[in-house]
Amino acid sequence: MSENPDGRKVALVTGASRGIGSAIAARLAADHYVVGSATSEAGAAAISSSLGDSGTGLVMKVEDDSSVAAGYTWLAERSLAPLVIVNNAGITRDNLLLRMKPEEWQSVIDTNLTGLYRVIKPALRAMMKARWGRIINLSSVVARMGNPGQSNYVASKSGIEGFSRSLALEVASRGITVNAVAPGFIETDMTADLSSEQVEMMLSRVPLGAMGSVDHIAASVAFLASEGAGYITGETLQVNGGLHMS
Ligand code: NAP
Repeated sequence: MSENPDGRKVALVTGASRGIGSAIAARLAADHYVVGSATSEAGAAAISSSLGDSGTGLVMKVEDDSSVAAGYTWLAERSLAPLVIVNNAGITRDNLLLRMKPEEWQSVIDTNLTGLYRVIKPALRAMMKARWGRIINLSSVVARMGNPGQSNYVASKSGIEGFSRSLALEVASRGITVNAVAPGFIETDMTADLSSEQVEMMLSRVPLGAMGSVDHIAASVAFLASEGAGYITGETLQVNGGLHMS
């Protein structure tokens, strides 16, 4: 079954406990049944209480095969088959390559990039059967620009964009679209550690003159999840205030 009992499509949003993912979950909850994932039971419970009747929280550590498999078992037991997947969970472990530890490289690739393989693959059959699906993957403006100190993160995000184009070609005939959204400089925990000088320096390069909000990203994701975006696939939507135009 691809829809929950009241007929809304099921949308799975990874990393829905905070920041961009939390805003995406809230936005999609207007017309979907949202399953939002967190890395802890407490995070999942908080998602459940904020979504109320519009969805539920779930523990899913996207770097861990068995955690993702357990999440899908939990969903199958409740006849919840996601037809919309938003791969939002992501981490940074910044360092210059000369100093980058193997763990810093591996954890970013495993979470940000291999996480997509783990989360999307188990959902594909149900989307194909429904002949409808929306897969939206969070990239970053740095995938196109590069960023010193982020070779691991940029590799993962560039990989996400190429992955999205390839999967888009594989599943287009089944009515499934696959796109990426590439945020610029957005106010969340991920950017909270930047010094005021770093923020000022970044803002001087943003033509629209401000950091983006989580709602800007949520609106773009909701558009790509909509019926109206059904003729867009393999695309990366840049949401960066003009920082980078392609
Ligand atoms: P954030 O505030 O740091 O939140 C990260 C989210 O990912 C949290 O919900 C976290 O869950 C979850 N997460 C972390 N590791 C995970 C794992 N191994 N398995 C499952 N979930 C995990 O990040 P954000 O700023 O909202 O960023 C969201 C996405 O947008 C990321 O993919 C990021 O790369 C991308 N992005 C952000 C910016 C920006 O300026 N903020 C710019 C470009 C791209 P817990 O709460 O349970 O830890």
